[in-house]
Amino acid sequence: MNTRTRIPPPAQRQQLLEQQKRRYKEKQRQIKRRKRNLLIKRIAVFGLLAIIAVLLVWMIMSFIDNNSGEKPSGNDPEISHENGLEETGETVSDDGHEGFSLSSLIDPSTLNPNDKIDLYYMEDQVLPKVYYTNNTPYTTFSEDNPILGSNKDTRVIVIDAGHQTETRKSDVWLSPYLDPAKDSSWVKNSLLTIGTEGSKTKRPEYETTHEIAEKLKKALEDLGYTVYLSHPDIEEQLSGSQRAMVANKNNADLMISLHCNSYEEDPRQSGAMALIPKIWEGYPSERLAYLSKHAATVILEEYSQATQLKNRGLDPIPKTSMFSFCKVPIILLEMGFSSCPSDDNAMNDPEFQGKMVSGIVAGINKYFSLIEIPNGQ
Ligand SMILES: [Zn+2]
Repeated sequence: MNTRTRIPPPAQRQQLLEQQKRRYKEKQRQIKRRKRNLLIKRIAVFGLLAIIAVLLVWMIMSFIDNNSGEKPSGNDPEISHENGLEETGETVSDDGHEGFSLSSLIDPSTLNPNDKIDLYYMEDQVLPKVYYTNNTPYTTFSEDNPILGSNKDTRVIVIDAGHQTETRKSDVWLSPYLDPAKDSSWVKNSLLTIGTEGSKTKRPEYETTHEIAEKLKKALEDLGYTVYLSHPDIEEQLSGSQRAMVANKNNADLMISLHCNSYEEDPRQSGAMALIPKIWEGYPSERLAYLSKHAATVILEEYSQATQLKNRGLDPIPKTSMFSFCKVPIILLEMGFSSCPSDDNAMNDPEFQGKMVSGIVAGINKYFSLIEIPNGQ
């Protein structure tokens, strides 16, 4: 049998070839379409999963936030170091919903103006504790009632080396004379800092103040004074009120806090000044304000004479917890400017430190020789 493969004529062959090509292209397009659809599906699934994950994390975070009582601080108080103090009542937020609330510890409706408030320590804060007794004035905030007077064997001095090795935030009760149940009695997120930095020496303020505090302690002890440092261990982190409590507890006659000033806008600014408590509702004692001013005046005079640093005078400051909690005369001596290269070099020079110490000692001697403090007052 004669079998023959039928070969299509050339025109038909061409047609068949075209058909095959079209089919092939169509198949390729289908494959591409499928791949694209698969990719879109995958992206959609992953996107959805990511959104769910973000939502979950957000929900967990806000749950933790609500339960820890710590809120992110949208606007921290402006910290000015020019006066060496970390807090000021001007920055108190009157938004009752922010930060630490004392009413979680004390029911304000149970507070009586005559209730006694005492203090206890929680980490770096001093917090009030109310004793519900009606016979003790509200303002007797502690058992420590220092006796300023000559019925003691020795004069007691507390030296506070300004600042600390770590910067941290803390809610500060401005004064034990203010109702702790009110938010306006607090500065939220106040900064406890390491202080200034020497423009020349690059030394942090806490190091300089600690070094001079130790030298001053030795010089005063040599003269028969009893002296305590607010934090003998440089690593100890104390709030302003805790520093003041060292003076109260040790029945001090005077507290002196040592600091270095800073004014970076003008490094030529040089010299010493003293900050003292100003009378306001959180610091009602005319007598302590008077004694503090008197001490600051004579100490600053002797200090600037011994060091030849310019005497920039006194600056009375309200709304500072270290002053408000201190039951003895207190001064904060800004010994010179860290921002001024020559002051900075001098304050960190052992020989010059000797002059600084002898100036402060002379001032303290003069203060006690001039001031009349009746026994047991
Ligand atoms: Zn300072």
